[in-house]
Amino acid sequence: MTALKGLYLYKDRPSPALSIEEVVAGLESLGLHTEYRGDFLRFLGLGEDELHSLAARIAAIRVGDIESLLDRPTEPEKVDVEREAAGMSGDEPHTDAFYDGNWLQRIYFATLSPRAASEPLCETAHLVFTGRLIGTFETRRYHARVIIGGMPALLSTSGVVEAPARPREYYFMKAKFAQSGRDTAELERAFEGRFLTYDDPKITSAMKSYALQAVFFQAAGREFCPESGCCLFNSHWQEEVLRKQVDGVLCAQCRKVLEEFT
Ligand SMILES: [Zn+2]
Repeated sequence: MTALKGLYLYKDRPSPALSIEEVVAGLESLGLHTEYRGDFLRFLGLGEDELHSLAARIAAIRVGDIESLLDRPTEPEKVDVEREAAGMSGDEPHTDAFYDGNWLQRIYFATLSPRAASEPLCETAHLVFTGRLIGTFETRRYHARVIIGGMPALLSTSGVVEAPARPREYYFMKAKFAQSGRDTAELERAFEGRFLTYDDPKITSAMKSYALQAVFFQAAGREFCPESGCCLFNSHWQEEVLRKQVDGVLCAQCRKVLEEFT
C-alpha cells in the first residue's frame, strides 16, 4: 500500500443535488487532504478544437444497443457530436445518453494525464463526479454503474439513481400500473424514501461513501468491504445504498486501512 500523496475532485455536470463541498468536508474529516478543482473541462483548459475533438470522442462511446459490447468507439452521428459540444459549454446536468464507462475513463485519462504530469498518477487519486449515466458490459448486456474505480475514478450521480435496483414490489407494481394505464407518479409517491431520486439531497452522503470506495480502490487496491454495516459495502439495492452508503460509516477494519495510507 502506498501513501496517498494527493486527492483531487472534479465535477462533470453532476446532479445539482450533489454538494461536492460537503463531500470534501467529509473526506477531510477522515484525514484525507482533498483539493476540489471545480469543473473538469475548465480545469483541463482545452482550446476550442480540443473541446470539439473531445466531444466527438465522447459521442462515439454512447451505448446504442445495451446487448452489444462497444469494443471500439463508433463513428459518431454529427447531431450527437453537436449535442456533446453544446453541453460542454453549459452547466446543465447530463441526462440524455448512456456511455461505456471504461471508454469514458480512457478518454478522460488521456485528456487529464498531460495536465497533471507533475502529479505521480500512481500516488494520487482523481475523482470525477459526473451526471453522465455510465455502464460496463457484463456477460450479456450493459449494466449501469455508480462508480468505476481507476484513473480517474468516475462517480455517477445518475448511476446512483439508476444502477442499484429499487424494491422488488416496486417493479411488480410498476408492471401492474403499466397494464392498467395508471399514472406512475402515484407509485413513485407510494415508494418515496425507499430509493434515491435525481434531486435527492441524500445523493451527497451517498457520494461521500462512493468517493471513499474510489480512494480505497486507488490506495489499497480494493473498493468494497464485505462488512454489512460498512459504507464500502457493495450495494446492489437502493435500500442497501440508503442504509450503507447514505447512513453508514467506515467499519473498524477499514478505518485501520485508511490510517495506513493517509
Ligand atoms: Zn469496511
